[in-house]
Amino acid sequence: MRGKLLAGQLLEAASGPVRLSGDEPTRGVLNDPRVIGLELELIGQSRAPGSLEIDPIHKKALYALKDGKRLFVTYWCDICSIRTYTPGQCWCCQEQTELDLRERYD
Ligand SMILES: [Zn+2]
Repeated sequence: MRGKLLAGQLLEAASGPVRLSGDEPTRGVLNDPRVIGLELELIGQSRAPGSLEIDPIHKKALYALKDGKRLFVTYWCDICSIRTYTPGQCWCCQEQTELDLRERYD
């Protein structure tokens, strides 16, 4: 499913607003102010009309659509060269990680 991410775990899809749910790392991405407003492609299960349960984070179910490309949503710590998949502090140096949309996952 594709659409623009709105605040409050909502996706503005062609069919109308879709309420999003997912595991904790996925919800972390959905609530990241740097991701809100981006065009996303989400893979998951629709158990009720107007809702989507996004597949678990390890299934790579969440992409940003930018410049005609489908990019993985990742987070990068420049200091430690550590990549994660949900926003927050680097587990090594405790600095905030940077959003890094990229074509490769690892
Ligand atoms: Zn770090």
